[in-house]
Amino acid sequence: MGKEKGPEWTEVTIFQEPEKAGGNFQVKCWHCELVFWEGATRIRGHFLGQVACGVKKCTKCPQALKKQLQDIDQAKREQETQKRKVQDLDEAVAALPQGPTKKQSTLKAAFGKKK
Ligand SMILES: [Zn+2]
Repeated sequence: MGKEKGPEWTEVTIFQEPEKAGGNFQVKCWHCELVFWEGATRIRGHFLGQVACGVKKCTKCPQALKKQLQDIDQAKREQETQKRKVQDLDEAVAALPQGPTKKQSTLKAAFGKKK
């Protein structure tokens, strides 16, 4: 229950409780009365008209709300991109050859062979 819900949740009302514990709620949009499956991304997608979220676009979304959710959506995306960048960096570092110690020992081994 500790998970905080964003402002998008105040724009919908619970339409139907889940049939099983842990299942998904169905929510109803306060503005256009469309009923769809819950999810912060889906709710934002509904108001912002993002086809990828699988929910039909809100026909009565107020401009102010749209702007607010757009900002949240943008921030989430940037967070994701940032996370991905750090992951890429980690992978790049892991793929690098080992430090100078290994190279030195390889050189020594090469010299050793020549003698
Ligand atoms: Zn709506």
